[in-house]
Amino acid sequence: MSTVIRNIGELVTNDPALGAGPLGLVSDAALVIDGDRVAWAGPAAAAPAADAAYDAAGRAVLPGFVDSHAHLVFAGERAAEFAARMSGRPYTGGGIRTTVERTRAASDEELRANLARLVAEMAGQGTTTVECKSGYGLTVADEERAVRIAAELADEVTFLGAHIVPAGMEAADYVALVTTDMLAACAPHARWIDVFCEHVAFDAEQTRDILSAGIRAGLTPRLHANQLGPGPGVQLAVAHGAASADHCTFLSAADVDALAGSDTVATLLPGVEFSTRQPYPDARRLLDAGATVAIATDCNPGSCYTSSMAFCVALAVREMRMTPAEAVWAATAGGARALRRDDVGRLAAGARADVLVLEAPSHIHLAYRPGVPHVAAVWKAGAPVVT
Ligand SMILES: [Zn+2]
Repeated sequence: MSTVIRNIGELVTNDPALGAGPLGLVSDAALVIDGDRVAWAGPAAAAPAADAAYDAAGRAVLPGFVDSHAHLVFAGERAAEFAARMSGRPYTGGGIRTTVERTRAASDEELRANLARLVAEMAGQGTTTVECKSGYGLTVADEERAVRIAAELADEVTFLGAHIVPAGMEAADYVALVTTDMLAACAPHARWIDVFCEHVAFDAEQTRDILSAGIRAGLTPRLHANQLGPGPGVQLAVAHGAASADHCTFLSAADVDALAGSDTVATLLPGVEFSTRQPYPDARRLLDAGATVAIATDCNPGSCYTSSMAFCVALAVREMRMTPAEAVWAATAGGARALRRDDVGRLAAGARADVLVLEAPSHIHLAYRPGVPHVAAVWKAGAPVVT
């Protein structure tokens, strides 16, 4: 069963061979979906026939957003902590332990239902690829449960046992547990290993040990790096061949150079700076140096509880000096790079049919009209999510 989306005012393909600029823009375009794949993309006049048709009525069509950084297996929420922060209390990461207590006490069904709710909330806003981390269990059984449940509903699963040292444990003992029994239990359900490399969590040597153990277990690193202050995270990410260094809020010139000279994507999470009232990372500096930049939500109950990629795009443009085109690329193709995926984040023959029809004539409206509903229709792997 094939469907042609016709009458597309502006098609973002992210394929420079198909259209103009890095977004591969095609105006007066059509897109053909066949099963779970894109069969064809290009100018409407050349579109092949299909079994069914959808009229985009001149709207813009984008690849679904790729949210490459989220923490979605948890119970409870922390609105009171947010309110306290907005009245002046700084963010220290200590609230993670509050969510750990709530998550450990929750049933599998409760965690699964909360994850399903958030993945659906994301899909309804055009996010068709979701990465999900563990990190609110911090015991072998609770972390194994988190990655197992994440693997049921998320596209990409990351083992983040090294989120924070749990209450009542010495850091060295906890690192020893993470790199042995916990890793062995979690690795079968995950593709990625992550560490919260910050002075409040894990230092350089601990991060190195955990990433190395993860690599030996067949996982690929991605890293929480340089969020709360300058630190060794970015350099460790690059040295370990991480797919992504995430946050990148406080970077030295050497950090920027290391990212620009590597395959490690700089994943920026502007919703966190919004929600913690920190300075924003300087995307312009990274882009001008030649680094690959992705944007993701970091959706989690503490430091940033938004699931809206559109909101993050708007923040990236206003607060991080990205152009609308750069921000849209970062939220789609950039996220795909950060997950080392070439089947998502673009709309060209062979890609997964993840399609976002905007309630707007251009991708620019995502930042130009922040906070308004943007979604007219969404398909994920060829299946309608919103129509
Ligand atoms: Zn995070």
